[in-house]
Amino acid sequence: MTEFGVLALQGDWAAHGAILRELGASTHPVRTAADLVRVDALVIPGGESSAMLRLMEPENLARRIRDRIVAGMAVLATCAGVILLAENIRPPQQGLAVLNVDVVRNAYGRQLHSTVAEIVLTKELGKPLRMEGVFIRAPRIVRVSSKVTVLGRWRDDPVLIRQGHILGATFHPELSADRRIHEMFMKAGEAGNG
Ligand code: GLN
Repeated sequence: MTEFGVLALQGDWAAHGAILRELGASTHPVRTAADLVRVDALVIPGGESSAMLRLMEPENLARRIRDRIVAGMAVLATCAGVILLAENIRPPQQGLAVLNVDVVRNAYGRQLHSTVAEIVLTKELGKPLRMEGVFIRAPRIVRVSSKVTVLGRWRDDPVLIRQGHILGATFHPELSADRRIHEMFMKAGEAGNG
């Protein structure tokens, strides 16, 4: 059985665990290096990326997670999680640099401080080609490399992306009823563990 981890240092981790369990997954909170070793796939939730970085330091989790992702571990990163994985972050901040995108933190300002918007999807997630997106102090993806597939946009901005086994959403899918993103992540986790 695939063991799904949720990085549980800070932020909205509990809701992801509940959804994955509802979809039939076996889930574990990940707070230490020992926890990380036990899981096959990982959710990096929304929250505050700078706070998460600090909390990852004692166990050197940023580097350990990076090494696992490079080795093929499936990841679902949402909001602050996308910031943590991005190659370039503005204003500059440390990160895992595994996702070939540039992001600007809190870039939407008051416009998207906390808002529900309609995301337009490509075909990969099936119908409907619309999805609700809850944005909370969301980062803006301002560049994607050719390795990145854009699965969803809000206006012209990529807000749901995939790069191989890394799935990233700048919004909070755990706060909406649509389960397609978690299902896609579970499939990637199960395939990686097969
Ligand atoms: N603004 C937060 C950050 O910079 C992200 C917000 C979120 O995850 N909801 O980390």
